Amino acid sequence: MIELSHLRGKIVAVLGLGKSGQASVKALIASGAIVWAWDDNPDSLLQLDTLNLAPVNIAECDWNDPVMLVISPGIPSTFPTPHPAAERARRAGVPIICDVELLCTAHPDVPTLAITGTNGKSTTTALTAHILAHAGVKTQAGGNLGNPALGFDPMEADDCFVLELSSYQLELLQDASFDAAALLNITPDHLDRHGGMDGYIAAKRLVFARAKGPKWAIISGDDEPCHRIAEELAREGGRYIVMISVRETVPHGIYVRDGHLIDDLDGTADAVFDLRQATHMPGLHNWQNIAFAYALCRARGIDAAKIIDGIMSFPGLAHRQERLGAIDSIVFVNDSKATNAEATAKALSAYDNIYWILGGKPKEGGIDGLDVFYDRIRKAFLIGAASDAFAETLEGKLPFESCGTLEIAASRALACARADGVAGAVVLLSPACASFDQYKSFEARGDHFRDLFARFERGQA
Ligand code: ADP
Repeated sequence: MIELSHLRGKIVAVLGLGKSGQASVKALIASGAIVWAWDDNPDSLLQLDTLNLAPVNIAECDWNDPVMLVISPGIPSTFPTPHPAAERARRAGVPIICDVELLCTAHPDVPTLAITGTNGKSTTTALTAHILAHAGVKTQAGGNLGNPALGFDPMEADDCFVLELSSYQLELLQDASFDAAALLNITPDHLDRHGGMDGYIAAKRLVFARAKGPKWAIISGDDEPCHRIAEELAREGGRYIVMISVRETVPHGIYVRDGHLIDDLDGTADAVFDLRQATHMPGLHNWQNIAFAYALCRARGIDAAKIIDGIMSFPGLAHRQERLGAIDSIVFVNDSKATNAEATAKALSAYDNIYWILGGKPKEGGIDGLDVFYDRIRKAFLIGAASDAFAETLEGKLPFESCGTLEIAASRALACARADGVAGAVVLLSPACASFDQYKSFEARGDHFRDLFARFERGQA
């Protein structure tokens, strides 16, 4: 747990008692702060009982007393409408921050790498942390992914924090400072929370607002908003800008050419890695994640050979194109995290001879735009609430079966792949839908698929 001794005896308000809020309350209490904690959900308030803390409704308290409001990033503090407690804090001039701010200001001496972007944050964060740990650096990773920031163990100047940061978290930082910051990509997302695309881009740009030390700004050259930010940073000066591209040559950057990762940081354009060897991380989007993790680890002073070792031994993240194994050479891939068509497009582009399981609670736009991948797909297997709508979309374009449940779909997909007997067949769960019609989360859906694979492997198909 992170010690926040500078807050001893001070009143700190905490809004939102999910995983990160609970960790904040615990760290603050242990550091001797007086905690006023609140959550609008009565079930979450019950968490306070275990900490012997009485709830304080901070939307109605006297805001002259608290020194700060630590808010869960999921709760709006500005757009579309601020939570009443955030509004009260703002009017009283009380700083509104998140747990990452407290972590970074408590440990300004620990090298910190920050990662943001619309897609690929978790993969890049986990990969970067894995490479560093593999290279012998004591590392803790978290933030938006996994461990909440104040649940970390205290660290020292030789160690490293690797933080995944959402745009919401970035807007809740004040003095937090990073040794290297990476912006993976920007496509429209969460626009209601940022008052539109300009607000979203401005939030992502904040990752570079407070770089310290060597000031590495690692940024994609492959999309227009990132390109524009890179140009602005270059005009501002004072940072070491490293461009990343999977599409073109970027002088003094890290890029992909003919399937190889090229390190041109010192102008020598060394081909350091054949990315096709990373069969556990297929697809251009994963190559982008690898290129960023490589740059971040170089920023932390790790040499190329050690980084490549780390990439090759990375086990991957669950539910993101997670290779479960193979039955009779038919590979099963769990991409349950793909809850929209854009994410599913990444998986479909990475394989051939796909037996595609899709469906669930549909998103706006359904599976529009995925037809460009239909020639990679042998057959589709529909599940959940989206089945009828998707059947209409696929009619006449792709063979499909309406299966209802994941269990039937997985079993039918395996049976069809076996019957076809084509080499390199992949049974892919990449639903392009939320899970909530049949599961409590995408994790529960992916876990079910993993269990089904294990059952089939034992011969119980
Ligand atoms: P995030 O944490 O940003 O949501 P994840 O690493 O969890 O990202 O990946 C979620 C999904 O996004 C993956 O299943 C994949 O389909 C897609 N994805 C991963 N990396 C990228 C990338 N660099 N660019 C675009 N899409 C990506």
